[in-house]
Amino acid sequence: MGFATDAIHAGVRPDPTSGSVMTPIYQTSTYVYESPGKSTGYDYARTINPTRSALEENLRVLEGGRAASAFASGMAAISAVMTLVKAGDHVVVSHNVYGGTYRLFARVLQDYGLSFTYVDTSKIGNVEAALRPDTRMVYLETPTNPIMILTDIAQVAALCRARGLISVVDNTFLTPCFQRPLDLGADVVVHSTTKYLNGHSDSVGGAVILARAEHAERIQFVQNSVGAILSPFDSWLVLRGLKTLPLRMRAHDLNGSKVARFLEGHPGVARVLYPGLPSHPQHDLALRQTRGSGGMISFYLKSSEAAGRFFKPLRLCALAESLGGIETLICQPSTMTHASVPQEDRQKLGLTDALVRISVGCEDVEDILADLERGLAAS
Ligand SMILES: *Cc1c(COP(=O)(O)O)cnc(C)c1O
Repeated sequence: MGFATDAIHAGVRPDPTSGSVMTPIYQTSTYVYESPGKSTGYDYARTINPTRSALEENLRVLEGGRAASAFASGMAAISAVMTLVKAGDHVVVSHNVYGGTYRLFARVLQDYGLSFTYVDTSKIGNVEAALRPDTRMVYLETPTNPIMILTDIAQVAALCRARGLISVVDNTFLTPCFQRPLDLGADVVVHSTTKYLNGHSDSVGGAVILARAEHAERIQFVQNSVGAILSPFDSWLVLRGLKTLPLRMRAHDLNGSKVARFLEGHPGVARVLYPGLPSHPQHDLALRQTRGSGGMISFYLKSSEAAGRFFKPLRLCALAESLGGIETLICQPSTMTHASVPQEDRQKLGLTDALVRISVGCEDVEDILADLERGLAAS
């Protein structure tokens, strides 16, 4: 089936008791046994829930994996992925990953005997140079947030395969609609479903999709053992959101490229970071590896003072963290999403106060452009 057909139908079957076309919210904690020791296959709702299973099957198909598990947040999903390594192991990480991921690695997992090296994974030589005898995993985010650096997934995945390392890709920004890391040879895909997959800014969730049987078994075991599961209601919301993923992503991409071109041509903007623009240093890789650039754009204003004036006049673009919803959100990463990154690292990465990140929504693009014009006129 095609991607749009899968987005609507994969994992979804009419409910056997009523014929309900849409998957019900199975709001139950437990299930009746047929006889002692003989369940229907459903025993307890932390372990298995039909609404969650429908979502997991849908995500499995969309990413082209062997199995999928849904979690209570993107961070819970990433935490589960990190149980594929153990104390004493070393992980190579893309150097400007999502702030919460960095915080989990640097301030939680490091205390449990894992070590991390952050490198610019856009250059394969950096990844190779960072490998040590105890390296077990390479963790990529592409494009990175918010600097929009791409990593060649096929190249890193091939290196990992040759060295027996686990390759992980956070695919939150582009979704399987525009980028399918498992097809490119990666072992694990992780998502914050909070963003584009749910798409309506009304649920927090995460998912892990796996290519290899031994990883799938481990993640399922950890999902049940740790218990950071996605609730039935949130599973239903994400499943509902996924039905329009291809429609929404097309709209985000169309609006995103128009906004990126507008910003690039504006005298108040110093630089635009958007892989869909020919000016992006990795535009060729974007064309090769992705089927669209979506709605995430970062841009530098002329100064941090200009940024101080830019946000005030905005009326449509909401000043908020998060991204990937149908409404346009805008933020200053240095003081918001990436405030937990140490000042020195922020400077190194180019995360200055002049940097603005916008998650372009599905509104009429003329209204988004007019709002940005208001901000830029004041900046
Ligand atoms: C939001 C986000 C996360 C964390 O997900 P939560 O659902 O907020 O826990 C991880 N990675 C990326 C790229 C994100 O944008």
